Amino acid sequence: MKQLRTIRIILALLFLASSVAAILLGPAAYPVTRIARGSQVLLCSLGASAGASVVWLLLTLMFGRIYCATVCPAGTFSDIFIRLRQAVPRLRRKSAYTPARRVRYHILLLYALCALAGLTAVTLVLEPWNMMTDIVGAASPIVAASQWKAAGLGAVTGMTVGILMAVILAILAAMRGREFCTSVCPLGTAFGMLSEYAIYHIEINPDKCTSCGQCEEECRASCIKTVSRHIDNSRCVRCLDCVARCPEGAIRFQPNRNRPATPLMRRVKTTSKT
Ligand code: SF4
Ligand code: SF4
Ligand code: SF4
Repeated sequence: MKQLRTIRIILALLFLASSVAAILLGPAAYPVTRIARGSQVLLCSLGASAGASVVWLLLTLMFGRIYCATVCPAGTFSDIFIRLRQAVPRLRRKSAYTPARRVRYHILLLYALCALAGLTAVTLVLEPWNMMTDIVGAASPIVAASQWKAAGLGAVTGMTVGILMAVILAILAAMRGREFCTSVCPLGTAFGMLSEYAIYHIEINPDKCTSCGQCEEECRASCIKTVSRHIDNSRCVRCLDCVARCPEGAIRFQPNRNRPATPLMRRVKTTSKT
């Protein structure tokens, strides 16, 4: 399972590097950048990314939000700032469970309405691939100008938005982990609704767990509640850090739900009245 986490990190960095190259140089520059661009789900132009969307729909129903763990450049951008903070012992942040925020559904609805109404500016700011393009555009007037051309705006607006996006995403990641992914991103919310029903789940084995709390402290999505051994799989971004951190090997990425082996801990079924 630890190797799976290493593969995830390598894939995420490769996709981030090729996404930046695709945005800066165009997908024709290197064949690998076409893969990065073609793997994205673009909610505002589903027609253009229909094939990728169907593939990710099926993969999410199978494994949960692995798109958020590997392919999304905005997710990996956030992860870099989470890691940078964790690398400084004095600044290390201990995560703690937070309840899911309903605002994510309102943002998804608002996003869908804006996309239907043709309000391009909203999709240019909230969609992960467009966000990454904005961030890269902060350093490239050509990218910024072509990105905001459709909204009738120019390079200065694009670069200003790009700088703001980069700063907001970096600060949010350093302060609150993947809060943007669990409470704001419309694509993440849509994936989360499917992820809840995914076949593969991150699960705590209650027979092995000692309630040490280390997984909860590690979770960048603040979705592990060790006191009840519950994981909110709609917010879990499948980073697999908790699996690597658990000293008891009690967390697994697995297809089945756990049931306590100790009979006294099982719910007693009442079948007939006495
Ligand atoms: S939630 Fe959105 S921004 Fe975060 S990784 Fe997933 S798609 Fe990317
Ligand atoms: S790190 Fe492992 S043992 Fe500790 S609370 Fe989490 S699942 Fe239980
Ligand atoms: S539950 Fe585990 S895999 Fe999911 S986001 Fe939290 S640390 Fe990562």
